[in-house]
Amino acid sequence: MPTRRSAWMNEDLDQLRKLARTFFERESVPHHERWAAQKQVDRDFWNKAGEIGLLCLSIPEEYGGGGGTFAHEAVLLEEQARCGDSAWGNSVHSGIVAHYINAYGTEEQKRRWLPKLASGESVGAIAMSEPGGGSDLQNIKTKALRDGDEYVLSGSKTFITNGAQADLVIVVAKTDPGQGAMGISLLVVETESAPGFRRGRVLDKIGLKGQDTAELFFDDVRLPAANLLGEAEGQGFVQLMQQLPQERLIIAVASVAGIEAAVDLTLAYVKDRTAFGRELIKFQNTRFKLAECATEARVTRAFVDQCIAEHLEGKLDVPTAAMAKWWASERLCTVVDECVQLFGGYGYMTEYPIARAWADARVQKIYGGTNEIMKEIIARSL
Ligand SMILES: Cc1cc2nc3c(=O)[nH]c(=O)nc-3n(C[C@H](O)[C@H](O)[C@H](O)COP(=O)(O)OP(=O)(O)OC[C@H]3O[C@@H](n4cnc5c(N)ncnc54)[C@H](O)[C@@H]3O)c2cc1C
Repeated sequence: MPTRRSAWMNEDLDQLRKLARTFFERESVPHHERWAAQKQVDRDFWNKAGEIGLLCLSIPEEYGGGGGTFAHEAVLLEEQARCGDSAWGNSVHSGIVAHYINAYGTEEQKRRWLPKLASGESVGAIAMSEPGGGSDLQNIKTKALRDGDEYVLSGSKTFITNGAQADLVIVVAKTDPGQGAMGISLLVVETESAPGFRRGRVLDKIGLKGQDTAELFFDDVRLPAANLLGEAEGQGFVQLMQQLPQERLIIAVASVAGIEAAVDLTLAYVKDRTAFGRELIKFQNTRFKLAECATEARVTRAFVDQCIAEHLEGKLDVPTAAMAKWWASERLCTVVDECVQLFGGYGYMTEYPIARAWADARVQKIYGGTNEIMKEIIARSL
């Protein structure tokens, strides 16, 4: 599909795109089926990505990161989507976890944790959602109660991306259970040295088969008080609200890249496959459907590009990020569904990338805050 070069691209980002494309083709594509079967990427994939500098691209160099911007993260996300890799949880690791530490960590915390995330020595996860609820964060049940120089963390989390492999988990907990939002803090659990920390099942999902999504349990885990992220308790909810726009933009970027990839896959297929003695592309219905899908891709790309540009200037507001997440994920599901139809029966076979893309797409409307929550946020701003 003819795509236009995004206005935020530059030569540095072109180089990164080439590097990422080669890396994914060589180190990711050959392993997709195996990763799906084992429900996670190989652990050393993180180290390989770290070695060539693809982790923590937008974290300052002084902490081991790439010193880039969100545009660097966006290029990496686009290339990951283009190669059909829905397994690697780097958008959580680099795009979210590292940014919480960079934004709120003390100097000591940043020096302790960020270089390991950037090299791949540590894998990062963030644990907000609980079995009893993910949307209603103010009512989480996980507690972290101060006891001398320590916190005692108890509770359970579910649906946690990178949960089985994580060495460092940012846990959202109540340090003051008597309060709502103001009682929430973020605590960092270093899983190797946290007696009472347990991992549950790696969950079976309808899509994202190779992505490690797990349950985590905290049974009176004692953490040094120094593992509270930032200087003071009760900042967690504000910190979440400040970081969630980037998380939502990440989903929007991945969604638009997914739309473009689906249209490309389908164009190749309908030019090759024949029925009634001619290529599928010759049927007016096929051409009209693809014309619609290509337009959806272009419109969504224009909006997401505008959001990226605003985010690069530090101006992306919370409702606009919610609009981007809602819009792009909805369009992704619609377009991929149309594309599956054009593949006929092969579109339903998991060995076909378009079938996997269809199953992978669905979660984009659910995680990162459901699309209903996005509409609540948008509506409140009207
Ligand atoms: C593959 C995957 C990976 C994930 N990764 C992570 C992760 O790394 N870390 C993490 O913390 N979480 C993660 N999640 C969890 C995800 O963020 C939650 O599933 C999501 O926020 C919804 O929470 P819930 O599942 O508890 O649904 P619920 O909150 O129970 O919602 C159920 C339904 O009710 C609707 N609803 C709820 N409240 C309202 C309202 N006020 N108005 C209208 N409708 C409402 C919702 O929109 C939804 O349709 C992941 C989930 C999946 C599936």
